[in-house]
Amino acid sequence: MKPVPWNLLPETAAVGESGALSIGGCDVLEVAAEYGTPVFIYDEEHLRNRCREAVALFGRHATYATKAFLCKAMAKLAHEEGMSLDVATGGELHIALEAGVPAADLVFHGNNKSVEELRFALRAGVGRFVVDSFDEIDRLEQLVPSTAEAPAALLRVTPGVEAHTHEFIATGQDDSKFGFTVSSGLAAKAVERAISSNAINLVGIHAHIGSQVFRVESFAQSLAVLGEFAEPLGLPELVVGGGLGVPYVDGEEAPTISQWGRILKERAAEAGITATLGIEPGRSIAAGAAITAYTVGTIKRLDGIRNYVAVDGGMSDNPRPVLYGSGYETMLPRSPKAQREMQARIVGKHCESGDILVRDAQIPADTVVGDILATPVTGAYGHSMGSNYNKVLRPPVVFCANGDARQVVRRERLDDLLITDLG
Ligand SMILES: *Cc1c(COP(=O)(O)O)cnc(C)c1O
Repeated sequence: MKPVPWNLLPETAAVGESGALSIGGCDVLEVAAEYGTPVFIYDEEHLRNRCREAVALFGRHATYATKAFLCKAMAKLAHEEGMSLDVATGGELHIALEAGVPAADLVFHGNNKSVEELRFALRAGVGRFVVDSFDEIDRLEQLVPSTAEAPAALLRVTPGVEAHTHEFIATGQDDSKFGFTVSSGLAAKAVERAISSNAINLVGIHAHIGSQVFRVESFAQSLAVLGEFAEPLGLPELVVGGGLGVPYVDGEEAPTISQWGRILKERAAEAGITATLGIEPGRSIAAGAAITAYTVGTIKRLDGIRNYVAVDGGMSDNPRPVLYGSGYETMLPRSPKAQREMQARIVGKHCESGDILVRDAQIPADTVVGDILATPVTGAYGHSMGSNYNKVLRPPVVFCANGDARQVVRRERLDDLLITDLG
């Protein structure tokens, strides 16, 4: 089978002088040797270029969805490039603030924000609240003193659009835990309530139909519903969320952020929308920017059944295959253009059979124990959804640019596992 499709690798990926894969001018094998494996290796230029695409069309109304991948370096990078940041919990808010992102450039999401989280966000001076429920309006009314300036807010609505994606990441349909339903009239009631409330300065309407969506038509449908609902309200902002899909495996194709953004703007104009349009890309900024490098630890050949190749990570650094049945490609950074003739299942080191990274992988036939093996397109929802299952230590994150490999998150140490353990 063919070598790994080059378009799935980060933008600056190249074959280095040694013949091995390089990212951001850094030899991947050297990065793996220096920081150990597993390791998330990000192409900083790739991240910056994706942010720039979004900002070129939407300015600060391009908001990076931090849940896709968040650490201080990433928060700083996205903000430096001109994006706002969206956070959905007190934890994400804390990291964004610690990174030095001004609270005014933060958007606070979430379908069940606690009183403590709302208080934290109000004190910090978060720029936008995306209000998700009547209960949240109640809480804001309890927390915002009648003398204070009301925080700027958008109402999250569900436009009744079935995005063609996995059930767990489809959020635009009526049967959803998120937001106020447009079709049932709940959204209109929420608008009335928000307008009459002293605790909310309503500035716009928000919808997010789901994630890993490839069809631009789904977004256009959502825009049509939103236009009809929101335009008569005369509010200044309309946010269509994130959700643009990215290719993970050979044969998949997705619009670029620029293409997606341009179509959204065209469709908004056609729908007569005059509000300023905003987007919230997460995956499309971060996913393609990184690979995960592992070390092959065991190879088990079961004649007539299959080959198992076990690496030193697994569902704790990438739960997507287990959660959504997601597919990935595999490659050996030592020979990035090699044919991949051997079929294998790439598995992790966790104590369950479900711990699969790549169900049906193709790898070079000369793969041996000790090889560094990489899965591309692991920059989003890998590190951020990672866990300590089996008390496996979470991998470091390394940003590569201009030949410099900068560790931005170190590997966890055994003692980190005991930080919260009171014995
Ligand atoms: C998850 C999420 C996003 C980002 O989605 P991606 O698919 O990563 O682009 C944006 N907005 C909201 C409200 C979200 O929940």
